[in-house]
Amino acid sequence: MNVLKYCLISVLFLSAGIFAQEQQKEREPGHYNQNKFKQLYEEFATPNTYRSASGAPGPDYYQQQADYKMDIELDDKNAKIFGEETVTYTNNSPDDLEYLWVQLDQNVRAKTSKSKLRDGGKLPLAEEPDAFAKKYLKESFDGGFHIDFVKDANGKPLPYTINRTMMRIDLPQFLKSGEQVSFSIKWDFNIPEHTVDRARSGFEYFPEDGNRAYVIAQFFPRMAVYSDVEGWQNHQFWGSGEFALPFGNYDVNITVPADHVLDATGKLQNREEVFSKEMMARYEKAKKSYDKPVLIVTQKEAEKAERNFSEKKKTWKFRAENVRDYAFATSRKWIWDMQAVKMGDRDVMAVSMYPKEGNPLWEEYSTKAVAHTLNSYSSHTFEYPYHKAISVHAKNQGMEYPMICWNYGRPNEDGSYSERVKYGMISVIIHEVGHNYFPMIVNSDERQWGWMDEGLNTFMQYMAEQEFGELFPKAIAPNTKYPSRRGDPSSVVPYISGDQSTIAPIMSNPENVYQLGPNAYGKPATALNILRETVMGRELFDYAFKTYSQRWMFKHPTPEDFFRTMEDASAVDLDWFWRGWFYTTDYVDIGVKDIKKYYVSDTPSKEMQEYMAVRNITEADMPPLVYLAEEDSEDFDANLKGKAPSESSKSLKEFMMDNMTSDERARVKEPKYFYQVTYDKPGGLPMPLIVEYSYADGTTENITYPPEILRKNDKEVSVVVSSEKELTGVVVDPKAETADIDVTNNSWPKKEGESDFDQMKQENIKGK
Ligand SMILES: [Zn+2]
Repeated sequence: MNVLKYCLISVLFLSAGIFAQEQQKEREPGHYNQNKFKQLYEEFATPNTYRSASGAPGPDYYQQQADYKMDIELDDKNAKIFGEETVTYTNNSPDDLEYLWVQLDQNVRAKTSKSKLRDGGKLPLAEEPDAFAKKYLKESFDGGFHIDFVKDANGKPLPYTINRTMMRIDLPQFLKSGEQVSFSIKWDFNIPEHTVDRARSGFEYFPEDGNRAYVIAQFFPRMAVYSDVEGWQNHQFWGSGEFALPFGNYDVNITVPADHVLDATGKLQNREEVFSKEMMARYEKAKKSYDKPVLIVTQKEAEKAERNFSEKKKTWKFRAENVRDYAFATSRKWIWDMQAVKMGDRDVMAVSMYPKEGNPLWEEYSTKAVAHTLNSYSSHTFEYPYHKAISVHAKNQGMEYPMICWNYGRPNEDGSYSERVKYGMISVIIHEVGHNYFPMIVNSDERQWGWMDEGLNTFMQYMAEQEFGELFPKAIAPNTKYPSRRGDPSSVVPYISGDQSTIAPIMSNPENVYQLGPNAYGKPATALNILRETVMGRELFDYAFKTYSQRWMFKHPTPEDFFRTMEDASAVDLDWFWRGWFYTTDYVDIGVKDIKKYYVSDTPSKEMQEYMAVRNITEADMPPLVYLAEEDSEDFDANLKGKAPSESSKSLKEFMMDNMTSDERARVKEPKYFYQVTYDKPGGLPMPLIVEYSYADGTTENITYPPEILRKNDKEVSVVVSSEKELTGVVVDPKAETADIDVTNNSWPKKEGESDFDQMKQENIKGK
């Protein structure tokens, strides 16, 4: 035999084969640039001494500190707030700073605000009366900060420049690296009616009793973040992109009417001054109540207080340590309850404040949901480090601050409520309390990346909701799962399969995306859920996610810090996953394209003969070979029950006799059926190829091919199935785990177009 030819033939058959060569022909020049498995070196910032390649803070990581002392007074009659604050700013960066940037978020509501002019618009043919009146018939609200002064520590005025929602304070000399500076600002503003203006903060007016319920945030000039990533984060507040804030300690005195009940970020310092004796006794009881909340202010007491309108004032004093923001809620209308939650060897208080309009829903579920959130989130991240978490009822609100948040969920006037309102309320409380973890403690830049807090938090919310359903089975319909709105793979399909001109990648600034909810909440939540359940598995995912949370607890992470840590702690290459899910608008669609059945033949098939002829090879030149021939495809497709091919052919047995020892033969299980199954991928996103194979004896086999099976040909891939049993069915993604947008191509034989009669027939056959 021609040795050279022999080698050639061996290489052709044993390594690559004919099919692989055909696949290569489909590739275009430069195709590798589009490779979905290419590492993310071009997209990721280069690691440095501030941020390590592992995703952990580097040896030179720093963050600035902003400490506040504030005196706040609420003018309830005029819905106005006054404040004077002293900020002590510590420059931990290696840079010397010639000026400081302060955020004036309320200015988004100033009459001169450009926010209203930012979006173009066309006149609709019809509009709801409220919206119409607000746009064209009413004078716009006179909001925004009025700044009285900015002074240095000696009381000398400091020059400042206001550029819309940002204020630059010019320093007389550079604030050197490692130095501290103190300055004071006096300010006031008109509080917006949040139910009208859709603000994240403001009051709701109750015309029946003439009271307001205030939920107050973004209410003081706040330091901007200065970091190794952005320098000063002074991207204007337009309304969609939320906040970026440094950590600090707060001493806050809040003066309100004496008959108000108030809670806020931080530890109450003068409880005995502001609580009645009765409230103190109830509070002591609540601190030991681990199974249910104790009322500090009852509904009866709140209803009585509604009629007071005291002219006297009371000052509530708080101290908060290591928080990135500050907020409070105050009203005569609050009912107030609390219970204790064990957190390691500490107790944390789960707290709710709500007007009578929130009952009976709120007394039943709010504090329960707060306590459950703390337990669930802590188990996936770190022990909740603060001493309390408060859920405040505010109409149409869902907004988060350190230790305190505003939540919707209001029953009808007669106290009845729908399941939708109940689930909506439990879900929003889980979500907003959950924000304590992301971004209040794992302090990402919301202004730049909405998904880093909303996406991670919505994913955590999904897990907490599912656990809530298991813990409180009476709260949900019998034999159902908690109806999570987001997180399930299927929930994101309408969005990712929608019109591409209205979809932006997750890695987009929240101001620029077309659909903020699906973009920053729904899609990342589903992506992380799929990553946990299907790509990484719970054990690897949970460890890595916890590592990320703990590495960046009380620090400022970037997207890369998250992406890198998830790989660093798991040894799973996820560049393809981040690229597909976070950097593109690709979607998942993987299907089964066709199946060919082969049998072991005594002679070369027609195709094989053609192949040999082209290369001038005769059978005599061949080494001992097992020939495989495709079964007549028409017979095969029409009648799935083809013959068992290797039974009709002796050649496999003969081949084994000639080429294998008796020991080897004894260890070989003889497959009788050979299939070449081809999967195609019309969608851009690679995913694990999850397949359920069904066999004639009624058994099934599940195989998950790693996503890397698509790394060299992104369009389609074939696999060989050799089995003792005849293959009768193939289903891709049988449990709908991957958010596959088109399942009509997921099955062989095709399920589409099957009549009920056919299905019945099939089931009858199976039944036998
Ligand atoms: Zn949120």
